[in-house]
Amino acid sequence: MNIILLAPPGAGKGTQAELLKEKYALNHISTGELLRNVASRDDELGETVRNFQKNGMLVTDEIVFQVLKDYLDKSVNKDFLFDGFPRNKNQAEVLDSLIENIDYVFYLDVGEPVLESRMVGRRMCSECGSVYNINIDSLKPKKDSICDKCGGGLYQRSDDNKESFKVRYQEYLEKAAPLIDYYQNRKILYKIDSERTKEEVFLSICKIIEKR
Ligand code: AMP
Repeated sequence: MNIILLAPPGAGKGTQAELLKEKYALNHISTGELLRNVASRDDELGETVRNFQKNGMLVTDEIVFQVLKDYLDKSVNKDFLFDGFPRNKNQAEVLDSLIENIDYVFYLDVGEPVLESRMVGRRMCSECGSVYNINIDSLKPKKDSICDKCGGGLYQRSDDNKESFKVRYQEYLEKAAPLIDYYQNRKILYKIDSERTKEEVFLSICKIIEKR
């Protein structure tokens, strides 16, 4: 089973991805995370990716494809959950050529004011990558700045701020939002009201998967 999570920045892709990969034993591919790994390297490519990410801009397709192909080639589990990819039409077409079929595209629908508040409150675990949110009661860590699951330290991503949000949201509207039509025409797009709690959103997604 192959799934794509399509959503504006801050809609909860990472949170739903964690739940989905657990329940359906999927191979979770977050291109944002793969690229953050590249960005932490002390070489030219690392610096290039760091600059794109810091400013909230999309990394070039060429770099993304390279990183993605390396990951796909190494993967044993071929049931993929794409989180943050594709982000434009060209990426969607390349994905079609890389994997045989896409079963579901879940479009997590959230309005702009909620997105901004969620993004500014997001915190990530530096050890296990779990996602928290200090602006949402049900997603707060039990202890300030400490991961509930592994005790790792929590940090705020350098691109999770208001200025970067505006750029990322604009990029999303221009480039990724047209993919809604692209997948709707293929009848594999499911729109999910994602201003609800993470449990409610997850339940809606599971119901669709289990209907088949
Ligand atoms: P995310 O973790 O999905 O919010 O992505 C964080 C940042 O990584 C984005 O703002 C982009 O700079 C970069 N990025 C992630 N996925 C892609 C992609 N598919 N294409 C281009 N840039 C990406």
